[in-house]
Amino acid sequence: MPNADIKALREAIQEHWSGEPSDKAKSYIGTFFEMARIGARISAKVEGNHGTYTVSVQKDEQGLSSACSCYIGKYGNCHHCAALALTFLNNSSAFREIETMALEDISDLDGLQRYLGETTLDSLLKELRSKGITQKSLAECMGMNTRHLSSVRTSELRNRYYRELGAIKLACLWMLEHLDRDGTKH
Ligand SMILES: [Zn+2]
Repeated sequence: MPNADIKALREAIQEHWSGEPSDKAKSYIGTFFEMARIGARISAKVEGNHGTYTVSVQKDEQGLSSACSCYIGKYGNCHHCAALALTFLNNSSAFREIETMALEDISDLDGLQRYLGETTLDSLLKELRSKGITQKSLAECMGMNTRHLSSVRTSELRNRYYRELGAIKLACLWMLEHLDRDGTKH
């Protein structure tokens, strides 16, 4: 019996991509690699016309969303997203399930790298926000332009990664651990 996440994602995909897929989308079905699933989010890579793209489809409280790093896939719904969704419908078990890691599970550098890969900057910034630390104050603290920080955050959600992404996440983790509300020490 498929688990609840798989079931929810399959149903959302069936509803969202109910029509006949385009020929472009069809040509990508089944050509993905590094296929993985965390909860109700799937991601994979595919060789496109201009390099390798990272494609993802997820179902959350806001509904179904998708993203692709190709030049038209910023907000999802490109033919790669449709193809990934249909690849999942054809064979959900081909997607390797990844257990989410908790901060306290990190015991070595590999673990840290995995954690940073699984945890979005967006979610870390939300956590900081709940402690009263704004995106603006974090940017100021790191000597970074606020708009740039914002761009790093939204790009990750669209499967585009700035080189400094991991370093910023580490800074967030440090702040979460060491600073309390309004940026004062514990
Ligand atoms: Zn795309």
